[in-house]
Amino acid sequence: MTLRLAGAQVVTMDAKRRVVEGDVVVEDGRIRAVGRAEAGRGGRGRAGADRVIDCTGLVIIPGLIQAHIHLCQTLFRGLADDLPLEQWLAKRIWPLEAAHTEESVYWSAMLGAAELLLGGTTAILDMETVRHTGAAFAALESIGIRATAGKCLMDAPSAPSGLKETTEAALQEASDLCAKWHGAAGGRLRWCYAPRFVPSCTGPLLRAVSDLAARAGATIHTHAAETPLELQIVKEETGQDEISYLDAVGISGPRAALAHCVWVDEEGIRRLARQQTNVVHCPSSNLKLGSGIAPVPEMLAAGCRVALGADGAPCNNRLDAFEEMRLAALIQKPRLGSDVLPAAQVLELATLGGARALGLETEIGSIEPGKVADLVVLDLTGPHVVPEDADLVSRLVYGARASDVRHVIVDGRVVVRDGTLKAAKVEEIRREANKWARHLKKKTGL
Ligand SMILES: [Zn+2]
Repeated sequence: MTLRLAGAQVVTMDAKRRVVEGDVVVEDGRIRAVGRAEAGRGGRGRAGADRVIDCTGLVIIPGLIQAHIHLCQTLFRGLADDLPLEQWLAKRIWPLEAAHTEESVYWSAMLGAAELLLGGTTAILDMETVRHTGAAFAALESIGIRATAGKCLMDAPSAPSGLKETTEAALQEASDLCAKWHGAAGGRLRWCYAPRFVPSCTGPLLRAVSDLAARAGATIHTHAAETPLELQIVKEETGQDEISYLDAVGISGPRAALAHCVWVDEEGIRRLARQQTNVVHCPSSNLKLGSGIAPVPEMLAAGCRVALGADGAPCNNRLDAFEEMRLAALIQKPRLGSDVLPAAQVLELATLGGARALGLETEIGSIEPGKVADLVVLDLTGPHVVPEDADLVSRLVYGARASDVRHVIVDGRVVVRDGTLKAAKVEEIRREANKWARHLKKKTGL
């Protein structure tokens, strides 16, 4: 099966960061050729493809990657505004997560994945809640997004009673789900071990997670250094700085993705860079919860791996990769000057950086022959991205919006065509999401 996206401007994000005119040819889910000359070779002209989508006047970019998302929280959008992290968690998020059922987790994932795909995000690193993670995977399997997801692990004595599990029970279910879902849907779905954050987890659990993830070839997904209070708790409980403690229990290195890292000092940055641990910057979430501004330019200068993410709907409140790109650039400029974190560097975070955080840098993140076909076709003709001769990367990062997305391809399959989801009906998702959000509100009394 070949698919030809014909006649576009292609932002490849290859090693030379080439922008080329021409076609992208997809064969059996992988990119076979890019550009006018290469794609025309071999005697297979436009008519040679099984399917052609005319992309004249449109722009193709690598599918955007968000490396920190909580799909289980999408139904909580608007239910936890204007609170600092600790109250946001204890008063709203934990009770709501504890109230989840199979159905509400399923529709929360469907709602979030619909928003993500329609907005040009093709791959995510997702942290679910403690229970019903299988229902989230079922949703991800059916809607067609690429996802690495995991059940949230919470076993510390101080963890909330509605979500706390024994260390053994938490690890057993995580391993069982890993066996079932890691590599499912032809490799599109993968498992991650997702301890919530250090204050919710015991040392033995974190050490076991490090071993289990290494054995399974799975990513470790957690939060770190989000607020000064969190750092203080970790210091009191472990006697160590949080980043060094995580390193000591084996949560570091290319396999680990740490969301936030707002409060890291120079030594912590050097450690993250040395270990090649992935940092996932979530600018909207950090601003809305009042957590602070992560030292991303300093991290990049030190050689850290950095990706982007929207976090969950209740702390954002959108799951919009374009918004995160724009904000990531803007919030650094009052701190360090308008020349820091230019558009081209931000686009790298949302593509190549995300691919590294998911451990998929050889598969996704750029448009190159051999890579998996995760592609986004944009219509950049709206007044907010004109004139068209301006720098294309600047138009993408500073100007483009999720609503500029026309078609989305994941794993070589068209999952959004002309702004419409192929595998699900938005009307049904809206109806079910409203119903289950009402159910959760009633159950928790919020
Ligand atoms: Zn989070």
